[in-house]
Amino acid sequence: MEIRYWNKDIETADIKSIRSLQLQRLKAIIASALQTPFYKKKLPSVGINSPDDIKSLDDLRRIPLTSKDDLRQNYPKGFLAVDTSEVVRIHTSSGTTGVPTVIYLSAKDLDAATDIMARSIYATGTTKNDILQNMMSYGLFTGGLCMHYGAERVGMMVIPAAGGNTKRQVQLMKDFRTTVLHITPSYLLHVRSKLDEYGVNVGDLALKKAFVGAEPHSENTRKKIEGLFNIDAYNSYGLSEMNGPGVAFECVHKNDLHIWEDAYIAEIINPKTGEILPDGSEGELILTNLIRHAMPLLRYHTRDLAFLHTDPCPCKRTHRRLSRILGRTDDMLIINGVNVFPSQIEEVVMRIPEVGTNYQIYVEKEGALDRLVVKVELYSKIFLGEAKQIDNLKTKIADELRASITITPVIELHEPGMLPVFEGKAVRVVDNRPKL
Ligand code: AMP
Ligand code: ZN
Repeated sequence: MEIRYWNKDIETADIKSIRSLQLQRLKAIIASALQTPFYKKKLPSVGINSPDDIKSLDDLRRIPLTSKDDLRQNYPKGFLAVDTSEVVRIHTSSGTTGVPTVIYLSAKDLDAATDIMARSIYATGTTKNDILQNMMSYGLFTGGLCMHYGAERVGMMVIPAAGGNTKRQVQLMKDFRTTVLHITPSYLLHVRSKLDEYGVNVGDLALKKAFVGAEPHSENTRKKIEGLFNIDAYNSYGLSEMNGPGVAFECVHKNDLHIWEDAYIAEIINPKTGEILPDGSEGELILTNLIRHAMPLLRYHTRDLAFLHTDPCPCKRTHRRLSRILGRTDDMLIINGVNVFPSQIEEVVMRIPEVGTNYQIYVEKEGALDRLVVKVELYSKIFLGEAKQIDNLKTKIADELRASITITPVIELHEPGMLPVFEGKAVRVVDNRPKL
């Protein structure tokens, strides 16, 4: 199999050179971080007052972790290192309400992130002769635009289809002979389930590959996708805080994801003790972005559970590999690729005057897609109302939730006392999706 590299020198560099590049870039990032209101306070408290205080990569360990809450509490500009006139793009994390987390990119940052994205695409053997249908949402979510820019840099023809309208998606695939999809695995399986209805055979399409990510999925899901479409599916990992997709990507060997260590420093910690774990041990992934200066982010606590390893890859890329994401250590749900915290749902439901005191959140599979059901108890006087009044209330709750979490749940209304009561810690979330 011919291996193509976007930047052979960096992708196959020996570990020592990668570590020395990381140190050089880390110092530069520390210089930028010291320009931000947040790190200007944080770094001196651990004795880092200038980049010269970083003598080796081990000095990174002195820096406390940065959490999603830190980002929220310092919204909107606490992590900004430059004047906004230097910023060419912002993104926010998907599915957050109230205070979102925001990232800022300068022209140089965007260029660097685009290059890493192009490298990821290239590692799968995809070239400018391929046609990408980008079925991730565009807009504030990083998934759409960041992949779009990377694919354009590779020189591919990009169809910015975004998510939804499955019939049109399939038509686009047919009309433009799409060869590569960028899509969540659940949506891709949903597309397959619709083909018969549209009278389309897999053989009518020109698909060769799919980049699947944004949500957890198992090796079996990959195999299912590959069998159903007769394509290769590559796991793509990223998060908005690190610029979105392209943090780690599988190469043609599809054997875990190369994490691009010239752009990110990856650590794995024990979720209970915070201790840094050796390669091969499962724990929480901590990431430091080395290529974004408008908004530096040091030791970001992703809450994703995974492990790193150095098993040689036949592609000869030397960067360590990241395992599939094995779970999360917080209660964040990923519903059809959108991040939802149960607290967001509670916030909305509890401010609706007709709603009583009890509610529950169910997540289920409906075909290939996830379905969110929010069950709420009402005050009795409302429950005795007319059917039309009940329907209006359901619509109102669903609309308010959609405005907050960006997905539309099914609403079930219940009489008072009908939902389970918990004397201890309430079980608010019931996730009935099959375990990975
Ligand atoms: P967002 O910030 O909206 O891009 O969401 C990022 C989160 O989505 C990550 O922290 C992961 O929990 C999840 N995620 C992204 N890509 C993958 C993947 N390939 N496998 C499993 N989870 C993923
Ligand atoms: Zn490889």
